[in-house]
Amino acid sequence: MADEWEAFLERIRREHLSSDPPPIQYECPKCRDTGFIYHTDENGHETARRCECFAIRQANDMMKRSGISAEFQKKTFDNFAARGNPQLLNAKTKARQYVENFVQTEHERYNSILFTGQPGAGKTHLGTAICGALMKNGVAVIYMAYRNAVTKIKQNIIDEVVYNRELNRYTSARVLYIDDLLKGRLTDTDINIMYDIVNYRYMNNMPIIVSTEKSPNDLLAFDEAIGSRLIEMCRGNIIQLQGKELNYRLS
Ligand SMILES: [Zn+2]
Repeated sequence: MADEWEAFLERIRREHLSSDPPPIQYECPKCRDTGFIYHTDENGHETARRCECFAIRQANDMMKRSGISAEFQKKTFDNFAARGNPQLLNAKTKARQYVENFVQTEHERYNSILFTGQPGAGKTHLGTAICGALMKNGVAVIYMAYRNAVTKIKQNIIDEVVYNRELNRYTSARVLYIDDLLKGRLTDTDINIMYDIVNYRYMNNMPIIVSTEKSPNDLLAFDEAIGSRLIEMCRGNIIQLQGKELNYRLS
């Protein structure tokens, strides 16, 4: 009995000693998740270079910070179906051109793009496709789901620090994508918040991508200060999608 017990203890000890720590699982075995690859040359000088995983990780972080959902990330130019419709083909071409010209126009007066028209015409799809393409080029984008974002900002309106932090997310973004601008019932507070965001970006020549059901005239009628700034920033890039045949949900 005592021998058995001794043998048991001995086995436990042996297993314990021989058990290596579990192998670390690296996401990138090449650089062991450090982001650098080190190389020592024949003179013993060590140099480091960025691992290729670094750019991929940065792009993923950018995508996460953008607030664009996984579902929306699937909306690309390649899977935007223009279905031979001239309006949609034109919209797609304009959207692609916007991405191509982005670097040249970023800090200029007319550096933004507006998609307006009925629900289901593909406004959000094209806006999101632009965001994805810009991020692929290393341009950070922040997505603003208009209704939700304004509601959240309003909830913090009495706490100046939190309010400014919330607002700052949208004013400071390199590119801001406002989806479904002015959707729903509108209060004076909503207008003030949107004015703060749009005016800041207008004054600093910071690009905005907009999708909205409102026509340019509607935008002006709702609030001239916001509407006129947006329309000016989007000059040459105001894309109207109108007509029953455009609703892919019905076709
Ligand atoms: Zn790596």
